[in-house]
Amino acid sequence: MSEIELRSVRKSFGALDIIHGIDLAIEPGELCVFVGPSGCGKSTLLRMIAGLEDITDGEIHIGGRIVNKLDPGDREIAMVFQSYALYPHMTVAQNMGFGLRMSGAPKTEIARRVDEAAGILQLQPLLQRKPAQLSGGQRQRVAIGRAIVRNPKAFLFDEPLSNLDAELRVHMRVEIAKLHQALKTTMVYVTHDQVEAMTLADKIVVLRAGRVEQIGSPMELYNNPDNVFVAGFIGSPR
Ligand code: ADP
Ligand code: MG
Repeated sequence: MSEIELRSVRKSFGALDIIHGIDLAIEPGELCVFVGPSGCGKSTLLRMIAGLEDITDGEIHIGGRIVNKLDPGDREIAMVFQSYALYPHMTVAQNMGFGLRMSGAPKTEIARRVDEAAGILQLQPLLQRKPAQLSGGQRQRVAIGRAIVRNPKAFLFDEPLSNLDAELRVHMRVEIAKLHQALKTTMVYVTHDQVEAMTLADKIVVLRAGRVEQIGSPMELYNNPDNVFVAGFIGSPR
């Protein structure tokens, strides 16, 4: 059974059709990258999986059940926002535990899970700091930690590295690959960066103007692009 499945998913904003009927299956443990030019609908697609955006038509299945009508908090997935979405007045530990606290988890349980996630992300020395006292990469790790503590079925990332400088971006890309290897959790990762897509993905979904152009492994897309758009997009250096 696929972890995440989209069946004929469409999205319109008013009279504007943005997503034109997408079918897609993401397998358990897979790191699936949505890649495509700016404005092609990557964020909209991800937000519909997360439940942050209604779908106009079709079905979204997570863990075998239809989630169309479920609130984001009931979908057992975690969206990793960019690092600037941290609460400035809270410590790292408080930021990481915030979601669990809101859902009414006991204090000892929150502390245990924050500690575990901090271990995975090597954030232990930073737990009592405030976001302003962290580097960009550290903040991004906290944002990921906030997702890990909720032990989700899948992580959704929307261009998590786009506001980091080039050097840090490469570093964090390696960190995310390591994290995926360590957790073996399903991940959906949105980027407009071909290099990120090629180096991170088990499976790449190439999107263009609200449609899927091709789905395949990085090697399949590189060696056997279905059309000129895919060839140009995957093959061209940035
Ligand atoms: P991407 O993440 O690939 O850059 P988006 O999913 O953000 O693309 O946007 C896809 C298209 O949908 C764009 O043309 C954008 O202008 C449009 N769009 C996104 N959100 C809204 C909205 N709330 N209302 C109207 N149009 C929107
Ligand atoms: Mg986007």
